[in-house]
Amino acid sequence: MSHGPRGPHALWAHLPTNEPRVRLGTRAPAPRGRALKQRHGLAVNDTMTSARHQLLKDSEGKVLLKSMTLQQLRDFFVNELGEKPFRAQQIWTWLYVKLASDFDEMTDVSKALRARLRDIARIDVLQHVDTHTASDGTAKLTWRTDTGAIIESVMIPTEKRNTLCISSQVGCAMNCQFCFTARMGLHNNLSTAEIVDQVVQTRRLYGESLRLTNIVFMGMGEPLHNPDNVIPATSILIERSGLDFSNRRVTVSTSGLVPEILRFGQESTARLAVSLNATTDEVRDWIMPINRKYPLGVLLDALRSYPFRKGERVTFEYVLLKDVNDSLEDARRIVRLTSSIPCKINLIPFNPHDGTEFERSPDERLIAIRDFLVSRNVNVTVRETRGDDRMAACGQLGKPGERSPRRMAPPVHFQHAVRTTPHARHDG
Ligand code: SF4
Repeated sequence: MSHGPRGPHALWAHLPTNEPRVRLGTRAPAPRGRALKQRHGLAVNDTMTSARHQLLKDSEGKVLLKSMTLQQLRDFFVNELGEKPFRAQQIWTWLYVKLASDFDEMTDVSKALRARLRDIARIDVLQHVDTHTASDGTAKLTWRTDTGAIIESVMIPTEKRNTLCISSQVGCAMNCQFCFTARMGLHNNLSTAEIVDQVVQTRRLYGESLRLTNIVFMGMGEPLHNPDNVIPATSILIERSGLDFSNRRVTVSTSGLVPEILRFGQESTARLAVSLNATTDEVRDWIMPINRKYPLGVLLDALRSYPFRKGERVTFEYVLLKDVNDSLEDARRIVRLTSSIPCKINLIPFNPHDGTEFERSPDERLIAIRDFLVSRNVNVTVRETRGDDRMAACGQLGKPGERSPRRMAPPVHFQHAVRTTPHARHDG
C-alpha cells in the first residue's frame, strides 16, 4: 500500500477473465480470513490460500533467477549445479549491474554453463507492454506477467531524484475508501522476481539517461500483505554488488498490518512508511477498514517498539480529504499521536478519480495544517501532485473489476463530506 491515496498505490493491473489466477509467486494469504472480510469489507479473493512458501520456478519448471537473494543464488549454484560460488557472483553481476536479458550476453561464462542455464533458468519474467509519459515527465510503465495480468510501475523524475513506484500485488484487499486500486479487489501476489523485474527492466529501458535513485513500494497492492516476496525483493534491491540502492532510498509503505510491520523491521533494512490518513478510530475505521483489525492505538504502539536504526524515521502519509480529515483539530491530533515516534509527516493532496465520493481539500487547509505542524516542530513535507494527465498520479490508477469491494458507510456526522455517486453504495 501505499498508502496514500495511493492509493498511493497507484499502480493497477487487470486480468483477462479466462486466465488462470495464480501461477507464479506466493498465493496471497487472507489477512484476516472470511469473518474479517465480512465484517470490514475487505476484498480478499475467495480462491486465495494461506500458503506461505515462495515458488522459485515458473509453470515450466524453470528457475526464476530474480526470485533469489545473493545467498540463495550462491546456494543454488553450489548445491544444485555443483558450481563454484564465484559463478553465482558472476551471474549476479550480469543480472543486476550489466542488466543482461539473455544468457548469450554473459561472455565471461562458459558456453556449456550458459547452455545449461538457458535450459533450466529464466532471466526476465515481465514483458514490457507500454510506456505513457505525462506532460510533467511522469511515466506509467505497463508490464504483462506470465498469467496475463497487467501491472504498472510509475517513474517520477524530479530535479533531485528519480523515483520508481512499484507494484507488489495484482489489485489490493485493503479496501481503502479513497483509493481507486481498492476497487479491483485482490487478484494475486506478485513473486519476488516480478517485483524486482520492474526495477531491472525500467533501469534497462532508461539507461543512464534517467538513472533510478529511489524505489517506493507504493504502487498497486499492500506490500506487507505479501511479505514473503516483498522482503526478499528489498534485500535484492539493496545488495551492494548488484542494484545497490541505499536502504534509505527503498521505502515500503503499509496501511498498517501490525504483525507484518514488526516482521519487516526485523528482516529488512529498507525504510517504512505508514498511511495514517485519519486521527480518530471513527474516521480511520471508515476510510481504512484495516483499522478495525489494528486500531490507531495498536498501530502506534507497534511503531513505538519498532526497531529503528540510527537516524531512521517512519514516514506517516496523510491524504487530505475535504471535511473528513483536514481540520486544525486533526493537525493537533497528528502532533499528539506521533510525538513519541521518530517520524516525518508527508501531506498528500487527494487525486480525485472517477466515481469517488471524496473531494480534495482546499489548498488553504493543506497550508494551515502544514504551518501548524511546522509551528510544533514536526518534520513535514507536502507531496507534489504528478502525472495527472495520464492517470499516473497516486490513487488514480487501476481498473475496477466487475465485483468491486463494498463501500463503507460514513459515520453520521461525516455524511455531508461525501458526494453520492453511482459507485457509492454503502453497505456497512
Ligand atoms: S487499498 Fe491497497 S493500494 Fe489502495 S491505499 Fe489501501 S493499501 Fe494502498
